[in-house]
Amino acid sequence: MTLAPPPPLASTARYDQAGLTRAGLSELRREDPELADLLDAEVRDQDTMLAMIASASIAAPSVLAAGGSALSNVTAEGYPGARYHPGAANFDEVERLAVDRAKLLFGARYANVQPHSCSSANLAVLSALIPPGGTLLGLGLDAGGHLTHGSPASVTGRHYRAVPYGLDENGRIDYGQVAELAAEHRPAVLIAGASAYPRALDFARFREIADAVGAYLLADISHIAGLVAAGEHASPIDHAHVTTTSTYKQLGGPRGGLILSGRDHRAPGPDGRTPLDRLMQRAVFPQNQGTPAPAAIAAKARAFALAAEPRFAETARLTVAGARALAAELSALGHRVLTGGTDNHMVLIDLRGTGLTGVVAERALEECGILVNRNRIPDDTRPPLVTSGLRLGCNILAQRGMGPEHMRECAELMHAVLAATTALGDNDYRVDPHERIRLREQVRALCVRHPLPHAGVADADDARVAARTGAPS
Ligand SMILES: *Cc1c(COP(=O)(O)O)cnc(C)c1O
Repeated sequence: MTLAPPPPLASTARYDQAGLTRAGLSELRREDPELADLLDAEVRDQDTMLAMIASASIAAPSVLAAGGSALSNVTAEGYPGARYHPGAANFDEVERLAVDRAKLLFGARYANVQPHSCSSANLAVLSALIPPGGTLLGLGLDAGGHLTHGSPASVTGRHYRAVPYGLDENGRIDYGQVAELAAEHRPAVLIAGASAYPRALDFARFREIADAVGAYLLADISHIAGLVAAGEHASPIDHAHVTTTSTYKQLGGPRGGLILSGRDHRAPGPDGRTPLDRLMQRAVFPQNQGTPAPAAIAAKARAFALAAEPRFAETARLTVAGARALAAELSALGHRVLTGGTDNHMVLIDLRGTGLTGVVAERALEECGILVNRNRIPDDTRPPLVTSGLRLGCNILAQRGMGPEHMRECAELMHAVLAATTALGDNDYRVDPHERIRLREQVRALCVRHPLPHAGVADADDARVAARTGAPS
């Protein structure tokens, strides 16, 4: 069913998206201060906390605005030019724009911008390429793989026979083992990709292994999509049959997913004739999803345009250089950095030997304004909610303009928090109260010196509005 257009605002029958957004924000403030306060508190926290979350980036205000636009009111199953509802003319153009920009950004020949998340994208791709009960080969969850790569906790581990590959003694992907397991189990799909792996992935090697056993190669670049787009990590697009990613982790986009294909986009699917691009279109809709999220797709289109700009590539360079420096600084302070360093945006810390669990370290750091997340490490004996490790990422630090020369300060702040923390068990701890206040203030001061990229935009816009209306700013 198609929704009726929103009623005109009381004061005027003609308005645009900007008017609607402004009206929405003042309505929220006036009629629902409880919710408005929470939204404002989040903006403040993001401004004054040092987020080293490897799976996050800051979306530009224009991305957020597109994602909250009235395009959201359009209901239209199907694809541009082939919808099952009327009223999708603007959305058709928006989706075409998003597809074209995604293809341009990644040098792909096919893109599907409708997946609601990378998990949905993976489910769609796997369901198109693996028969029920068929075999997939992916990096094990404990080795840094993702739930959707065949974990028993995911449908991918229940509906398919999932074989996990792992790491060698240096913590690197054991390609010899991948080849052996592929030869032994003959998977329909081999997945190359990780959620907690600080080293570069050798997509060409993965493809050789897949070809040797007639498997499709799925590259999941959810974590490193920004580095790939910027040329800071080798691209899988022409090595893999299909590539998937999230759009929010490193692309500064909205919550959402994306499916891409390069050289092999017309290669035959498992039936020997239907080309992969046709299979992917059907796999997303109608097989795995219903209506797309039009405003999210508009936000993706905006994010892909921003990711093609030189400034994005500059941030990606800073991200990688920063992570390398952060790993070195933490090592110098005596922390155990998994694999001894990093090639991407991510640094993994082994906390065994510090007396702190992952959850205790995460919470103590959060109290002092530093956000990192607990993470299982190889051979971790602690449960997933506790863990023995931390995962750090430099995406948002780089967006704040912080590179290698700022990492000593970040590492020292982290180190000082952990040094001021006493474990009172696996889940309980105490941070020295004086240190907590002092360090929280230092973190805040650091954030003020390195504001988020768009912090000044809001002020400038307020000033412009004030100048127009004569209101004090
Ligand atoms: C985060 C992640 C996903 C899932 O992404 P969502 O968009 O949150 O569903 C899939 N694969 C990998 C490798 C990830 O790290």
